[in-house]
Amino acid sequence: MDAGKGYTLPHLPYGYKALAPYISENQLTLHHQKHHQAYVTGANAILEKLDKARKDNADLDMKALLKELSFHLGGYRLHNLFWENLAPAGVGGGGIPKGELSEEIDAEFGTFERFKKEFTLTASGVEGSGWAVLTYCMNTRRLMMMQIEKHNVNIIPGFRILMVLDLWEHAYYLDYMNDRAKFIEAFWHLVNWDEVQARFVTHSKK
Ligand code: MN
Repeated sequence: MDAGKGYTLPHLPYGYKALAPYISENQLTLHHQKHHQAYVTGANAILEKLDKARKDNADLDMKALLKELSFHLGGYRLHNLFWENLAPAGVGGGGIPKGELSEEIDAEFGTFERFKKEFTLTASGVEGSGWAVLTYCMNTRRLMMMQIEKHNVNIIPGFRILMVLDLWEHAYYLDYMNDRAKFIEAFWHLVNWDEVQARFVTHSKK
């Protein structure tokens, strides 16, 4: 494949040790270099299949291919968003939202505590592997939770993604074993509210 015609694993915006103790160096390294990389590789393999079939004028199982593409690309892009909406605890990560986002959270949910409760319930209730997502609905101009199964099921078209939390066990099993609730608690220490706020401002001004 030509360079620039496929997907590449992005660098993390911080070091592998930076999110400890909430996400350990081992856990973060494995998650980024093995799991995230697998979706990059998976998506690029599909692009190669498409290229090859076009060159050979061969038939394709479009249904299977596009389903697989949706899974790998969903995984690829959600992880990009995830790394960017995290920051080291106390150095950009944790605390409470500020500015327009904070006002919008209060207007929509009443209080930050209520928002936190609903997001936590969204996260703990993801069936199997998936993601908890805070979104912005462009029609109603309201904040809304979204619960993505796997990387690509339950996505609502047009909703803009503001904040994501990876609830696949591969995100936390080294640090928390099967204790998803503990990982969700840890997440609040790492939320990069400046990034979530920037995404909110970008979308709410459109
Ligand atoms: Mn993951």
